[in-house]
Amino acid sequence: MTDLNKKPGINAVQQEQLKQLPGVDHILEIADNDPALKDTPRNLLTNSVRQVLDRLRNTILEKNQSIHENDLTDMDILKKIKRIVKSAMSLNLTRTINATGIVVHTNLGRSLLAKEALEHILMISGRYSNLEYNLATGKRGLRYTAVEDIICELTGAEAAMIVNNNAAAVLLCLDTIARHRETIVSRGELVEIGGSFRIPDVMEKSGAILKEVGTTNRTHLNDYKRAINDHTGLLLKVHTSNYGIIGFTSAVSLKELVELGRQHHLPVMEDLGSGTLINFSKYSPLKEPTVQDSVNTGADIVTFSGDKLLGGPQAGIILGNRDIIEKIRQNPLTRALRIDKLTLAALESTLRLYRDEEKAVNAIPTLYLLTCPIETIENKAIKLKEMLDQLNDQRLSVTLIDSTSKAGGGSLPLSELPTKCIGIRISEMSTSVIEKTMRKNDPPVIGRIEDDIFLMDMRTVAEDELTEIANAIRTCLKGS
Ligand SMILES: *Cc1c(COP(=O)(O)O)cnc(C)c1O
Repeated sequence: MTDLNKKPGINAVQQEQLKQLPGVDHILEIADNDPALKDTPRNLLTNSVRQVLDRLRNTILEKNQSIHENDLTDMDILKKIKRIVKSAMSLNLTRTINATGIVVHTNLGRSLLAKEALEHILMISGRYSNLEYNLATGKRGLRYTAVEDIICELTGAEAAMIVNNNAAAVLLCLDTIARHRETIVSRGELVEIGGSFRIPDVMEKSGAILKEVGTTNRTHLNDYKRAINDHTGLLLKVHTSNYGIIGFTSAVSLKELVELGRQHHLPVMEDLGSGTLINFSKYSPLKEPTVQDSVNTGADIVTFSGDKLLGGPQAGIILGNRDIIEKIRQNPLTRALRIDKLTLAALESTLRLYRDEEKAVNAIPTLYLLTCPIETIENKAIKLKEMLDQLNDQRLSVTLIDSTSKAGGGSLPLSELPTKCIGIRISEMSTSVIEKTMRKNDPPVIGRIEDDIFLMDMRTVAEDELTEIANAIRTCLKGS
């Protein structure tokens, strides 16, 4: 206290309030007698008390204005402590209702796993497994065998390898094939994916030397040809998955690159990004090249994500010819980037579903949500509207709105899927307050604001979440 008193600019009120501020021990004593805080771990409780008192002290000092004296009562301080304790005691990572309509939403967890994958995780994680044990020989086995066979069967690839995510897959491939060698990439394909994945940066980390060719909108086969020299190690094609260049454009096809590579004995790699095993055009307006196309065209290496359009767990899948995959296996980085058994279990089960495409489209949530008929989405919208109408509140206005959903995950950037949304307005409550209340709900409901209406896209909302959404709206109404 004494040196605080010496601080210039502290007025009498501030000094008085600092004096009023109770001590840590005093608050701890009250907290100990509060039944609501009975089971709080000691360290957490002490830290929370300190945190609240420090904050109050700083407010008194820094704001250079007095705070309301109600904020300094034991009761109020205890209330603040309870709020901190409650938030610390509940899980941080929690389920969320995705009403954005973005199916592969990186911030909301990307892919939902199929029931088969969930069951497999449950079976493998609580018991011992043959993760790296060959049951036929009784000797050490390879953890990747479980998925390698099935992915090769599905795609026609010679060999496969799985790592932590597609960023890791690209890094590992470049490091193995093109370290200290030039990698030729079109300027139109030097992409940045959300979350700071930039092709030029990954390339630099891998030790590959970037050789850009062409221009942003147009690159020709001749540009690649001219760039090839004794230092060239790889021709790389990157799927521009999160944007499209339209207008006066020209790109070199994978087929042309493969031919060029063969002529010069250079490997050709394609980073597909999302990577789909099914041809979407059969089920929806979406267009996206398939993994099988790239393999058939003769790419020496193809990489893609496990949790984008594939609809599996986070993983990076590398397909390629046997020699290159073998070299990749030998790379010490492989160990650092390896996947765990939960991922492996989920990936194997997801991939197995692809043996029957019709089944896959229904059983894998990502595929189901992307190909779901508009009638199904509309039914959910109608049902929610009925629930909300039953709240019978004059202030609430609920409308059914035609809109479009996005695939997300950096895939299918230009395709939009027709959808149905529920729009919410509450008189005397701003749209941003509605958005915030919904977001802070338990479970949080994430929608978007458009034309000053709070919009919830029914494509990504599950049937059994409609009641929870209606309850969240009821909470909004209570607060308005
Ligand atoms: C998404 C994406 C990546 C990164 O994949 P992650 O699985 O998120 O690591 C890399 N390249 C392209 C082209 C992508 O679309």
